[in-house]
Amino acid sequence: MNTTGKFDVVVIGGGLAGLSFAILMAQQQRKVLLLEKKSFPYHKVCGEYISNESYPFLIRIGIPLESMKLPAIKKVRLTDHRGNQVEEELTLGGFGISRYLLDQTLANRAKEVGVHILENTPCTHYTKENHGFDVYTSKGVYTSEILVASFGRYSMGNFSKASKQGVNWVGVKYHIQYEHVSDEIALHTFSNGYCGISKIENGQSCLCYIVKASLLKKYKNSLSALEENELALNPFLKDIFNKAVFLYDKPCTISNITFEPKKPVLDGVFYLGDSAGTIAPLTGNGMSNAMRSAYLLHGILESYFRNEISIKEVERNYAKQWYKAFSIRIFKGIWMQQLFCTPVLTSLFIRIMRFAPWVKKSIIRQTHGKTF
Ligand SMILES: Cc1cc2nc3c(=O)[nH]c(=O)nc-3n(C[C@H](O)[C@H](O)[C@H](O)COP(=O)(O)OP(=O)(O)OC[C@H]3O[C@@H](n4cnc5c(N)ncnc54)[C@H](O)[C@@H]3O)c2cc1C
Repeated sequence: MNTTGKFDVVVIGGGLAGLSFAILMAQQQRKVLLLEKKSFPYHKVCGEYISNESYPFLIRIGIPLESMKLPAIKKVRLTDHRGNQVEEELTLGGFGISRYLLDQTLANRAKEVGVHILENTPCTHYTKENHGFDVYTSKGVYTSEILVASFGRYSMGNFSKASKQGVNWVGVKYHIQYEHVSDEIALHTFSNGYCGISKIENGQSCLCYIVKASLLKKYKNSLSALEENELALNPFLKDIFNKAVFLYDKPCTISNITFEPKKPVLDGVFYLGDSAGTIAPLTGNGMSNAMRSAYLLHGILESYFRNEISIKEVERNYAKQWYKAFSIRIFKGIWMQQLFCTPVLTSLFIRIMRFAPWVKKSIIRQTHGKTF
């Protein structure tokens, strides 16, 4: 087999997990190739609230957050369809940044530290050989000792779309101009979904919702009918849809989101971010989790490249650390998502949280981890 290039590590997917991992490895002088099927910058469906868990990490890898004038987010507000609401300080807090800007900044940094990035280059498949992996793309075949999959919500191994089992969700994002409290993220719930709004750069706001695909189907896949008949039942969302200036011609959407369990290591391939396990967006830390998984794997792989441990030990250690860091949080996120997608339970919970503030504090503690 004639290969186009040989690398220590090939990374499939240039989202936050793949890019931050590639930066870390290149900073250790490893020869890294990152394959991205799209080209930077581009809009991605995401609430764009990033928890401060990953703030020090981003600074360490060379992202100049301090000078980027990003809005700090310190409070969260939860509302229901009856107009009830409850507010709480976020213990750790976070900040707002569009994925357009964040992914592009990371991609620039990756190029700066020597990562070979191939944009518009989807990986189609790979084979495991004695010398490592042969990774196939439209531009050629690349050989790699280590293969890292960070292709987001796509399923393992075969790179096909997410599993057909379980509930399918659809995500929708807009950038808007709308007057609202600048240091808060509001989570407006509706039947079978929820919608977040918070500030990002340049005074804009990100409005992003996730909804069960079955509900959208009821409206023959018309987002405007869904928004009018379901989201607008929540008075806070009705006000947003009536008054906001929508900055895109059309919304940014993704389908086939599932929260089925996946695995961090499979057939010798290491999975990062959403491709290892997708956390419910309402926890607001999918992005931080994606980067934390990159941080974990990079630390273990460095011991391998220094000949201190075998590849089997890397697999065992990464799986162990991954489950310890994420499995309970993913489970709790799914549980909370179920709760806040059921209007009667959300209303009841808001009432409980008003009378028992420790309940809200405890819920917020469940969603965020420690800084890294
Ligand atoms: C509706 C919604 C709202 C969310 N809101 C928030 C929030 O407010 N805060 C938060 O922290 N998290 C949020 N999340 C979660 C967060 O977006 C993800 O956890 C995070 O993007 C995961 O990063 P990643 O790098 O694993 O995947 P991604 O960012 O999805 O990156 C995967 C990359 O792989 C590329 N790719 C895919 N297949 C291939 C292939 N075959 N070859 C080459 N490249 C490929 C894709 O183009 C993409 O660039 C939200 C998620 C959803 C669905």
